[in-house]
Amino acid sequence: MTSPATSAQRIDGVLLSQQLRSDIAARVQALKARGITPGLAVILVGDNPASQVYVRNKVKGCHDCGFYSVFDKFDADLSEAQLLARISELNNDPAIHGILVQLPVPKHIDANKVIEAISPAKDVDGFHIASAGALMTGMPGFLPCTPYGCMKMLESIGYDLKGKHAVVIGRSNIVGKPMAMLLLQKNATVTICHSGTQNLKALTLQADVVVAAVGKRNVLTADMVKPGAVVLDVGMNRNDEGKLCGDVDYAGVKEVAGFITPVPGGVGPMTITMLLMNTLESAERTR
Ligand code: NAP
Repeated sequence: MTSPATSAQRIDGVLLSQQLRSDIAARVQALKARGITPGLAVILVGDNPASQVYVRNKVKGCHDCGFYSVFDKFDADLSEAQLLARISELNNDPAIHGILVQLPVPKHIDANKVIEAISPAKDVDGFHIASAGALMTGMPGFLPCTPYGCMKMLESIGYDLKGKHAVVIGRSNIVGKPMAMLLLQKNATVTICHSGTQNLKALTLQADVVVAAVGKRNVLTADMVKPGAVVLDVGMNRNDEGKLCGDVDYAGVKEVAGFITPVPGGVGPMTITMLLMNTLESAERTR
């Protein structure tokens, strides 16, 4: 095997987000001229510090793009019934086009019940069973924001997935499984790996595209990557110094891969951008 002469090209999620958000802001202005302002409701229950950061960034993204936003912050002892009642109100509020409940919710609340309580027409996170079913069957629906953002990153480098081998590490309902479905839709041959996968390295070494969505540092190291492969790092972890890092050993893998996304500044900002895109599209549908 020969290594590429230069290190991987970085796919900059901040830059791509800026470009997409300026398109979104322009479309918001066009909608406003017709009397419609896209509205997103964000609900946070409890005081998980990571969730607080995510929610703050989502609300800021709304403001920056000219959206109307509602931020409901509830104490951790909010009952499931109270949360479901608030979702029902928002489902019926014409000023709201998207509803997001930041996960995880406290243990006494059934997250599945919460997700299913959101109207599919306002399910801008794309987690509702109707959205998942639409994705599975190729029908129109909201795409989960993180895999949607990953697909935009591939699109931004003009990558043709047809006939390529994509390996997705992780099979969660919010990242791994929908990611695999989107890659499949674009005619990649897809392998899904998980904690029970034997010899992950043998599979990733065959991959033209690797998406790491595990939540553990150094799941993907340089010796596991085919030269020139595209590596998308979804993971969000902390290193020994407490700094944000992904699942991929960035320093090593960038010397082998053809393209790579950094953490921070990669998939994370794209996730919020695609949330804004879904909310905008939901508002545009109300025309
Ligand atoms: P999750 O629900 O915990 O799923 C993790 C997946 O990784 C599971 O399918 C698990 O397998 C698999 N796994 C665990 N250890 C493994 C190993 N050693 N080898 C191969 N697979 C292994 O997590 P998630 O919600 O999908 O999130 C994954 C990561 O992405 C987290 O770090 C999360 O913070 C991050 N994330 C980032 C964004 C963003 O915007 N950047 C958005 C969402 C999530 P099993 O199914 O067998 O348990």
